[in-house]
Amino acid sequence: SFVAAGAMVVGLAACSADAGDGGTGGDGEGGLIGVAMPTRSSERWIADGAAVQAELEAAGYEVDLQFAEDDIPTQVSQIENMITRGAEALIIASIDGTTLTSVLQSAADNDIPVIAYDRLIRDSENVNYYATFDNFLVGQQQARTVLNGLGLTDLEGNPLDDAPEGPFNIELFAGSLDDNNAFFFWNGAMDVLQPLIDDGTLVVQSGQTDIEQAATLRWDGEVAQSRMEDLLTANYSDGTQVDAVLSPYDGLSRGIISALTDAGYTVGVDFPIISGQDAEIDSVRAILSGEQYATIFKDTRELAKVAAGMAQALLEGGEPEINDTETYDNGVFIVPSFLLGPVPVVADNVESALVDTGYWTAEEVGL
Ligand code: BGC
Repeated sequence: SFVAAGAMVVGLAACSADAGDGGTGGDGEGGLIGVAMPTRSSERWIADGAAVQAELEAAGYEVDLQFAEDDIPTQVSQIENMITRGAEALIIASIDGTTLTSVLQSAADNDIPVIAYDRLIRDSENVNYYATFDNFLVGQQQARTVLNGLGLTDLEGNPLDDAPEGPFNIELFAGSLDDNNAFFFWNGAMDVLQPLIDDGTLVVQSGQTDIEQAATLRWDGEVAQSRMEDLLTANYSDGTQVDAVLSPYDGLSRGIISALTDAGYTVGVDFPIISGQDAEIDSVRAILSGEQYATIFKDTRELAKVAAGMAQALLEGGEPEINDTETYDNGVFIVPSFLLGPVPVVADNVESALVDTGYWTAEEVGL
């Protein structure tokens, strides 16, 4: 199953990070490591920042953790400050993956290694490693959860025997186009959905099937909400029902859900199937209450271990472990990467995927 596959990859990563700690005694030199996160507006980045900090501090490093509230100049100046403060390595989850070229040149001039965290840093040769999830697979999983919710396939994409014929009306959302991940999620999802759009099983009433039309700047839930409102007004006011919405992130899904609720859709009656990502608490609750169908769980604790382990290896003369050398071309070169396994979550496996693993407590998600 996907859960097992995901757990297996996660397990591997955990081992490698642990092995790194063990090999050096794990007490570092007390050097400073800069950790730049995009925003506090989403739970995942807060958890990521805390987990990376905890890993590095446990290994004896000092950490300068900064959040940039989705403002590019703020992130650039935070990274400049880290360099000025004498950071020995940088771990960066970028806001716009193309805007760090000059600050990274100054990192390189100071021999400071750089690890791209979750989001690829583009257009720079001064990125040493990339720690992330299999982002194309995330997109495929998002699309498969939609098909599963419609009764067409299981969560691995295998057709179900008693599948309805459709056609089903679907609308498509993408992430922020300055985030390289948005393209991977979209391409993965369309890899699964396009054949069904082509054969008429799925119908995009709005005709908005390009990533540029579907994109959501800065992953902003309000932007998604107002686009969903516009889509409903323009294409569904004659009583046509929307049956599914592909959403690449829980924060967008919540905006989409608001638009649908305001338009009169009712859970348990005619509420569309909606995907998501990140297993945010409110969205896990929405899955349990039937407003959202699914999310994709990416264990930020494991990503933090991988990234911290990479920084530590670089500073202590080891070699960071990678498992991918062909996927993430940043426009200058293919960045050596470690990819973790994402896990689709529907109501049925909230407990096993999120609670039993200690990611959220039963109380937090309302179980
Ligand atoms: C991350 C997702 C997240 C999105 C919005 C992406 O780069 O991979 O996990 O949902 O940004 O924060």
